[in-house]
This record gives sequence, structure tokens and C-alpha cells, in this order.
Amino acid sequence: MAVRQSAGAGGVADEVPGPAVRRTADVDRSDPGYREWLKEAVRKVQADANRSADTHLLRFPLPEAWGIDLYLKDESTHPTGSLKHRLARSLFLYGLCNGWIRPGAPVIEASSGSTAVSEAYFAGLIGVPFIAVMPRTTSAQKTRLIEFHGGQCHLVDDPRTVYEVSARLARETGGHYMDQFTYAERATDWRGNNNIAESIYQQLRLERYPEPAWIVATAGTGGTSATIARYVHYMQYDTLVCVPDPENSCFFDGWVAGDPEVSCESGSRIEGIGRPRMEPSFVPGAIDRMMKVPDAATVASVRALERRMGIRAGGSTGTGLWSSFKIIAEMLAAGRTGSVVTLICDPGDRYLDKYYSDAWLAEQGMDITPYAKAVEGFLDTGAWPC
Ligand SMILES: *Cc1c(COP(=O)(O)O)cnc(C)c1O
Repeated sequence: MAVRQSAGAGGVADEVPGPAVRRTADVDRSDPGYREWLKEAVRKVQADANRSADTHLLRFPLPEAWGIDLYLKDESTHPTGSLKHRLARSLFLYGLCNGWIRPGAPVIEASSGSTAVSEAYFAGLIGVPFIAVMPRTTSAQKTRLIEFHGGQCHLVDDPRTVYEVSARLARETGGHYMDQFTYAERATDWRGNNNIAESIYQQLRLERYPEPAWIVATAGTGGTSATIARYVHYMQYDTLVCVPDPENSCFFDGWVAGDPEVSCESGSRIEGIGRPRMEPSFVPGAIDRMMKVPDAATVASVRALERRMGIRAGGSTGTGLWSSFKIIAEMLAAGRTGSVVTLICDPGDRYLDKYYSDAWLAEQGMDITPYAKAVEGFLDTGAWPC
């Protein structure tokens, strides 16, 4: 493929660019070979979507007499096992169509794991190298999955440095820093195109409460909650959107204070959610409510999911469940009926050495007993203990 010194945008420059235009060694975007490669890459990503079925909307069993239905959108059934399959597909299409992803140049991502697993898969699909920059605490199973899909892992000690390390690696390798934390909200088609929100509403059509009172979605990039909340407003629904936040995350404080500059020191223990800074992709104004959820409540809830439905899910699913349970208890207390939707974000088999390990709980000094009692008490009686 022809490589040349080109204008910043990489196309055919009709004029000599002014000094403000950065010159980079790049592919020639008008080269027919590049255009053929681009078309093939886009086709391969689209074909993956075309081969895939929609994810299930499952019902969590609640007493019939409550008049409240709880649904779980099961995002663990995507080909790469998490809701990040949707995001990775959107980011690859966005990066390809913007001319940012080029033949032979690596794609680099700052990730706590799940996005990197899905992106490694799409990078393999279109034949570009992939490097994931992740905190050293990321579960070993995720590292193995990234390498299984042909990606490389670059582990860092301080989770706050993943952004700058990714940007540096992109500069050094001539690659593209995908930057999910900036681009998640805009790479996704929030008005429809079978995004997660449209899919939920389609699947609720024949239910007794087809317009949910609440949708509960946790935030990592914030992209999922942004897509859902924007879609609700765009479609003029009455649904409210709640984002529960784990410990060691600043989304809650930033949302309450209306301050985009807040940050916190240590990394979240709930993989995939909770961030040390207000990510650009998190859209606070679109969200109706936030809730701080103790990590022990998260683990107690995800274990209750296994007892009640025989499903093992990742930690963030527990955070969403705890918050949904609390909302349902409030609805019950207020004599309201309706439906609530939350997500199964990824499968529990990625975290057997964490949320399903009593040794890990002990190591973390985490006592889930009071929360486990609260959840079981709520599911039996409808009463919220606190
Ligand atoms: C990314 C992620 C989330 C949150 O989704 P965002 O759209 O990034 O906010 C929740 N759970 C898991 C397991 C994730 O990987």
C-alpha cells in the first residue's frame, strides 16, 4: 500500500496546507488499494452484526402479587460475551469510516478488560494488530481472552495512567488510540438502528407494562446509559433512567455536584464500571437519578441472581440488580405497579477468582452477610431493610 507524506486529513490536498496542518506519515486515502481494504473491513464488521441474533430479555422471578416486573437484558450472550461487543462494533465502524483505523497500523485501547476483549476480536476480524492497556488488577481470565483473540496486553500499575500510556503507544507505533471513554457516546447510534434501548422497547411490546417505569444501567464509559437516556427522551417516553455507581468511582459525586472535574484516587473493584474521573462519554444531564452502591451489596446481589435464576454474572450486573431491587421496594411502598429493566453485562465465569471467591472477599475485608440478608428479605417480603 502506498505510504506518503500527506495533508493532515490524509486525502488529496488541493492546496499546500498552512502551518497549522500537522503532517504525518500516513496511508494515501485516495489510493484504490486503501479504499478496497476499507470496504472489506467495514463489510466484515457489518457481517458480524448480520450473523448475530438479538440478546434475550429475561424475567427475574418476583411475586406475582407485587404487580411489578423486573427484566434483565442479557448482554452476556454476544459473541465476545459482554455488552462491549456492541461498543466495539460501533467504535470500529466509527474509526474505519473516519479514516482513523488503517491497514497494518495497531489499534490501542485503554480498558479495564471487557472492551479490550471485544476489540481484540474485531481487530482480528479486519486483520490489524491490537494492544490493550489495562490496570494490573484486571482479572486473569480477561487477559487470557484478549490474547486468545490475538491481542496483546500492556499492564500498568496505576489505573489513572491508562489514558496517557495508550496515547503514547499510539504515537510510538503510528497506531490509533480508540479512546472508548471519549467516543463511546458518539460512536453509538442513539436514535435507533437497533441500539440496546430500541431493542429493549421492542422486546417489551407484548408485556403487561411495555413502557418501563425505570431502566437501570451502570456506567463505565457512560455510553450505555447515554444511549438509553437519549433514546428515552427522543422517543418521548416517561421511563426514568437510574445509574448506580460502585465505591471508588467519581461519577456519583460529579453528577451530584455538577462538576466535570472531580476525580478519585483508587480504582473500582467492580470490573467494567466506576471510574477515577468524569469520563467525557458520561452524559450526566440525560440521567434522572444516581445511586451509590456498596461493593458488598453488589456481590450479595450477583450471588442472589445465581440462587434465584441459576445465572452467574459479572459484578456490575450485581450493582444494577441492587439498585433495581431498591427501586422496586420504593414502588411497592408507594403502591405503584410497572416494570423495571436492568442488564446482565457480562458472564460470571470471568470472575470466579473474585466475586464468587470467599477468599477474595476475605482479602478485600468485605462482609456481604448483611446485604445478602437484605436481598433475600426483600425478595421474600418486598420490604427494604434500610
Ligand atoms: C463497560 C461495562 C459496563 C458499563 O457500560 P458503559 O456503556 O461503558 O457505561 C458495565 N458492565 C461491564 C462488565 C462493562 O464492561
